[in-house]
Amino acid sequence: MQLLLDNNRAWAERVEREHPGFFKRLSDQQSPKYLWIGCSDSRVPANQVIGLAPGEVFVHRNVANVVTHSDLNALSVIQFAVDVLKVEHIMVVGHYGCGGVLAVLHEKRVGLADNWLRHVHDVKMRHRGRLMHLCSHEQEDVLCEMNVIEQVGNVAQSNVVQDAWARGQPLAVHGWCYGLKDGMVKDLGVTMAHPGEVVDVFRAAIKRYPRAPDAKPGSSDLPL
Ligand SMILES: [Zn+2]
Repeated sequence: MQLLLDNNRAWAERVEREHPGFFKRLSDQQSPKYLWIGCSDSRVPANQVIGLAPGEVFVHRNVANVVTHSDLNALSVIQFAVDVLKVEHIMVVGHYGCGGVLAVLHEKRVGLADNWLRHVHDVKMRHRGRLMHLCSHEQEDVLCEMNVIEQVGNVAQSNVVQDAWARGQPLAVHGWCYGLKDGMVKDLGVTMAHPGEVVDVFRAAIKRYPRAPDAKPGSSDLPL
């Protein structure tokens, strides 16, 4: 642990040397434009991935970047970010090779987290007709992306975001997926910036994943 404290001291001194007054300015006010909702995975650090300094991105992370309508932790973060900080963009950021998503896909037991990951399991079941005919490697990538798209829909339908849109506050919700192997973020093209486009954008995003050729239309996908 001492190494970490030594690292911290060296980092603080370096930042202050390179940007005199940095911490004083930051301690007075934070005004991030972005809320990052990502996975807890240690390989996906929000600030570094998008090249932002402390104070520039508000962050919420949990296993497999899930946003449910009853998670008061995530909803409180969204509410504070939107109502108090007035962020203009919320990005839900999944990542390929996500341990939570892979556990769901390959039906591996994790423990208590299995209950949390049921939300990802729901995504898998809802879109199984677009998923299960793929090879294992493709399923992994597609379920990571579909999970992001579902969570973007959940964020957009939250009362916090709906209320912000209703009062004309500029706010867009985005879905991204991060590649551990190359450090690149893929925009999943599911940006929602007003309530009238939520369902259409969601459906268009899901339709990019073709069903199995022999699947009956509408047999597996539940409406939003
Ligand atoms: Zn993950």
